[in-house]
Amino acid sequence: MKQYLGAHLSVGKGYKDIVERAIAIDANTFAFFLRNPRGGSMRALDEADLAAARELMAEHNFGPLVAHAPYTMNPAGNKESVLEFADLAMSEDLTRLDYLPGSYYNFHPGSHVGQGATKGIEKISEFLKRMLDRELRSVVLLETMAGKGTEIGRSFEELAQIIENVNRPDVLGVCFDTCHVADSGYDLKNDLDAVIEEFDQVIGLEHLKALHINDSLNEVGSRKDRHARLGEGTLGWDTIVKLITKPEFENIPKILETPTDEAGYAEEIKELRQRSRQ
Ligand code: ZN
Ligand code: FE
Ligand code: FE
Repeated sequence: MKQYLGAHLSVGKGYKDIVERAIAIDANTFAFFLRNPRGGSMRALDEADLAAARELMAEHNFGPLVAHAPYTMNPAGNKESVLEFADLAMSEDLTRLDYLPGSYYNFHPGSHVGQGATKGIEKISEFLKRMLDRELRSVVLLETMAGKGTEIGRSFEELAQIIENVNRPDVLGVCFDTCHVADSGYDLKNDLDAVIEEFDQVIGLEHLKALHINDSLNEVGSRKDRHARLGEGTLGWDTIVKLITKPEFENIPKILETPTDEAGYAEEIKELRQRSRQ
C-alpha cells in the first residue's frame, strides 16, 4: 500500500532545503515548526523559497505536511500573556501555512494548570472558534496527549468534547500520537483494534487526519511522554506496523518524532516501508 511517511525536520535553512532533506531520507511528508518551538518569532517570508518547495513536493508526490505548533502555546492557560501568545502564534502560523495549502497544523490542546479539565476544555474550544473563523487553506489538528501534568487531551472523550463544542469538522481534526495514546492508558500493544474501535465510537475515525508514530519508553498508562525509537520501546515494531497498515489509514500522513537524527529517520522509514509491504 501507499504510505506517506516522514519525520519532524528542522526548517532552519528554508523550505526548499527541508523538502530536499525529506526526499533524501525517502520521506514523502514531514513535520516542522513554523517558528522557534520555544516561543520565538517566525522566519522571514520568502515566497520564492516556498514556491520552490511546493514545486518539488508536487514532483515527488508528497502527501499533506503536518506543521507543529510551538510547545509553549497554551490556550487553556490562566495568564493573560500566555493566552495572548496562543492567539498570536496560531493565527500567524495559519497565515504562513496559506503558502503550503492542504497542510495540517497540529497542536497540543493545552494544560489547565489547576483550573480543572472542564474549564480547560472550555477555553480551548473558545480559542479554536476564534482561530477557525477565517479563510483557511489548512486543517487544524488536536493532538492526543499523554496526560502528564494537567494536560487536556489525555482521553478521547476530552478531544470529542472540544470537537463537539467547536463544531467545525471541515477544519478541525485529530493527530493520533502512538506514544501519547499508550502513555495515557490505552493498551495499543495488546488491544490495538479495540483502541481504534473506541476512538471511532468516541471521536469518529473520520476526524483522524495524521499519525505521530513513536515508540514509548514507559509502560501503558505511565503518563510520562518519553518517546523511544521504533522497536526500542514498550510498543514494538508489530504494533506500529499493524497500525499504519490499517486500510483506513492509507492516505494519512505518518510522522516520526523518535529521538534520533536524520540518518536514524532514514533507517526507520526504510524499515517501515519494508515491513508495511509484507
Ligand atoms: Zn506534539
Ligand atoms: Fe506528537
Ligand atoms: Fe510527545
